[in-house]
Amino acid sequence: MRLLTGKTALVTGASRGIGRAVAQQLAHHGALVAIHYGRNETAAGETLTQITRAGGRAFLVRAELGTPDDAKTLFTHLEDALARHRTGPELDILVNNAGASGSARIHDVTPELFDRLFAVNAKAPLFLIQRGLKYLRDGGRIINISSAAATTAYPESLIYSMTKGALNTLTRALAKELAPRGITVNAVSPGYIETDMNAAKRTTPHTAAALAGASAFNRLGHPTDIADIVTFLATDHSRWITGQILDASGGTRL
Ligand code: NDP
Repeated sequence: MRLLTGKTALVTGASRGIGRAVAQQLAHHGALVAIHYGRNETAAGETLTQITRAGGRAFLVRAELGTPDDAKTLFTHLEDALARHRTGPELDILVNNAGASGSARIHDVTPELFDRLFAVNAKAPLFLIQRGLKYLRDGGRIINISSAAATTAYPESLIYSMTKGALNTLTRALAKELAPRGITVNAVSPGYIETDMNAAKRTTPHTAAALAGASAFNRLGHPTDIADIVTFLATDHSRWITGQILDASGGTRL
């Protein structure tokens, strides 16, 4: 039997990058996966096609995060979609992966950038969890995709780093709060992963090599490097781990 057979998972930001790889892995292990996306319906459709072609089960859920009522919208669409799949509204796994980036040092940050990044990276996960707790079964899993930027000095992206610090704090606090229900809450902190998010930072071989060089393995991470860790955290194998911020940066800045 596959590790996640009978489980239902919601992966935010699963149209591209890390979220797509996570959705694929969870579906590969037997979960029914809600592929959440914001604007890129084509990319979300590609994730869905790849999963179904591989024999997995998934469906799309759209909601723009960082907007008023984002969590309500997402869960309304999720409930409708699960009903269409003749499945109850219960969830087993919530992966808060969707995130927005923005490079700005202290002298360049603006209130608008602060509000946008906090809305998507910190406020949205908080309220998705708040609403999701109504659906999450006891013994469930909450996995937040943080960043090594929160635990290493990264002044180039000051506000982004701060949002991930807030996510780490949320992770630890909720792990304590939800342990009586057997729900584990953990965060995974990638270093540089080869996705659209940092494509603008590696437009030349020189800049790409600089990012790869941050890892002890001297390569950029691949989305599957993170998806494998998330999958472990989603399974029963990780039941004794909660409230942890797992470094998944390939030994960045050791
Ligand atoms: P990508 O830019 O490749 O993909 C981002 C995903 O998030 C897309 O699915 C996108 O949806 C969704 N998304 C972004 N903003 C919103 C929004 N406002 N509303 C709804 N959906 C939204 O990102 P990555 O895969 O690289 O990053 C995934 C997570 O990993 C993020 O939380 C990021 O901070 C974190 N991370 C990434 C690192 C990296 O090097 N790549 C390093 C450390 C952490 P759509 O396609 O519809 O736009």
